[in-house]
Amino acid sequence: MSGAKPIFVDRWNRPLRDLRISVTDQCNFRCVYCMPAEIFGPNFRFLREDELLTIDEMVLIAECFAELGAEKVRITGGEPLLRKELPLFVERLAAIEGIRDIALTTNGVHLVKMAARLKEAGLQRVNVSLDALEDEVFKKMNGVGVGVQPVLKGIAAAKAAGLSVKVNMVVKKGWNDSQIIPMAKYFKEQDIPLRFIEFMDVGTSNGWDVAQVVTKKEIYKQIQTFHPLEPLEQAYFGEVASRYRYVGTNTEVGFIASVTESFCASCTRARVSADGTLYTCLFASEGVSLKHLLRQGADKAAVKQFVMDVWMKRTDRYSEERTEQTAKTRKKIEMSYIGG
Ligand code: SAM
Ligand code: SF4
Ligand code: SF4
Repeated sequence: MSGAKPIFVDRWNRPLRDLRISVTDQCNFRCVYCMPAEIFGPNFRFLREDELLTIDEMVLIAECFAELGAEKVRITGGEPLLRKELPLFVERLAAIEGIRDIALTTNGVHLVKMAARLKEAGLQRVNVSLDALEDEVFKKMNGVGVGVQPVLKGIAAAKAAGLSVKVNMVVKKGWNDSQIIPMAKYFKEQDIPLRFIEFMDVGTSNGWDVAQVVTKKEIYKQIQTFHPLEPLEQAYFGEVASRYRYVGTNTEVGFIASVTESFCASCTRARVSADGTLYTCLFASEGVSLKHLLRQGADKAAVKQFVMDVWMKRTDRYSEERTEQTAKTRKKIEMSYIGG
C-alpha cells in the first residue's frame, strides 16, 4: 500500500513523474546514430546476465518510483523485446499501485510474435522506431540490412493487438532526410502519429556533429509543402513532443527537438540503465548504482530514500546549456545503455 504520494522536487522545481527503464543493452540492430557497427562489433562486450537487473529488482525499483510519484513507466533498451520474460515484467509492473501508463519503445521486429502477449500482460502503448520507408535507406540506417517489411508487420501486429501505436523517426542529414515526406504521407494515410526526432549527441560513439542535424524547423517546412499543420495544446506537463495536426484531419504529427528547442524546464524523467544505474539526465556523465545498493541488502525504504535524495539534488539541464564543445567532448552514457 503506497498511501499519498510525497511531493518533492529537484533544484529546478521539477517533480519526479516518469521512469524509463532499460531492460537490456543488446540489440538486433546497429543504427548508425546509436550503436554504430564499427564500434558495437563482434568483440564488443555486452553485459553478462548477472550484470543486468533481475525482474525482481526492476519491479522493486519501479515500486519505489511509483511510491515517490512516478505514474508512467517506459520500457526501453537496447532492444527490449530481446529481454527474456518481458511479458512477466509488464504484468508485474501493471500490478503496481500508482502506475497508470506502461509504454515500450522498440524497433518493432519482434512485435509480430510478442504484441498480443504484451497487451494481455498490461502494456498500453508502443513507440516503434522506423527511419525510412525505402528499403535501401532503412537497411543502411539500421546497419544490419533489415528491410522495412518486418517493422511494418510489427506495427500492424501491435495495432491488431489493441496497443496504441506511434512511430519515431530519427533524421540524420544526408542519410534519411529524403524519407521525411514519404514517411509523413504514409503514416498520415495510416492515421498513425509520427514523431520526428532530431539527431542527438547522446553517448560518445555516434560521431555526432551539429551539421548532421535536420532541425524541427526544416522538417516542419517540408511537411507544410504537402499538407498544412496546426499546433495542438500540450497534453500534460513535461510532454516531450511538440504536437501538430494535419489541418482538416485528426491525425497527429510531432517533433522531438531536443537539440534546437530544449525542454529541460519541464523534465520529470528518471532513467535506470540495463545495469541498474540511475541517471537523472539522458546526457549524464555519471549515475548512481541502484543495483549495488540492492545487492548490498538495501530494503525498499532505503532505496526510496536514496532515490529521493538524488532527485532533490538534481540540477540537470544539459540541452539548455549545450554548446558544440560539450556536445563533442563531454563523456556521456551510450544510448543503448540508457535507453533514450
Ligand atoms: N531499440 C529500441 C528502439 O530503437 O526503439 C529502444 C531503444 S532506442 C535507444 C530508443 C529511441 O532512441 C529510438 O526511438 C531511437 O531511434 C532513439 N535514438 C537512438 N539514438 C539516438 C540519437 N543519437 N538521437 C536521437 N534519437 C536516438
Ligand atoms: Fe538498437 Fe534502438 Fe539503438 Fe537502433 S536505436 S541500435 S534499434 S537500441
Ligand atoms: Fe531532461 Fe537532461 Fe533532456 Fe534536459 S537534457 S530534457 S534535463 S534529459
